[in-house]
Amino acid sequence: MNVETTIRNLRGRGFTVTYFPTAAEAADYLDQAIDGKTVGVGGTVTVQDLGMYERLSGHNEVYWHWYKSEGLTLDEVYARCATAQVYLSSVNAIAETGEIVNIDGRGNRTSSMLFGHEKLYLVAGVNKIAGTYEKAVWRARNVAAPKDAQRLGRKTPCALKADKCYDCKSPDRICNGLLTLLGPVSSMETEVVLIGEELGF
Ligand code: SF4
Repeated sequence: MNVETTIRNLRGRGFTVTYFPTAAEAADYLDQAIDGKTVGVGGTVTVQDLGMYERLSGHNEVYWHWYKSEGLTLDEVYARCATAQVYLSSVNAIAETGEIVNIDGRGNRTSSMLFGHEKLYLVAGVNKIAGTYEKAVWRARNVAAPKDAQRLGRKTPCALKADKCYDCKSPDRICNGLLTLLGPVSSMETEVVLIGEELGF
């Protein structure tokens, strides 16, 4: 995996890229950069591991379906996320050639990568980098999704061993949409915050 090549190709496609050697430095940066905003967050272990809910909630209005918002139903939390000024997510894979790949079951996370916010932050450890676009799609389908299905306790064949995708037709399937960002969409500034550690899956 070549981090420098990946950063160069992401920038070449129009993404803003910031790189931090450690998760702690990235968390400090995000905490400083996002202030006084409404913030929506997708289902992301990476952003959770950075402790961003606790940190951002002190000086922003944060909506995240993994955390309870007083007085709001889950659907209302999703709606607030969808219209927040800033959106944070991780990604399932980044190709060294600069494409960003994501799989989604509900579609809230991937739709927010396409529309609805002033600024999108995509936070990822270098373990998400794959050599080619084809390998990035393979990683999203065969590494990230099975591990996520296992984390969610889904009754899918992949969740048993988290070893590969079986392209199941299970009602518990978490893979319904596959999104590739070839570049940032024109309506949103999109910043990739790349971290030199293994984070999430
Ligand atoms: S399609 Fe089914 S088997 Fe494949 S990763 Fe998704 S949930 Fe698992």
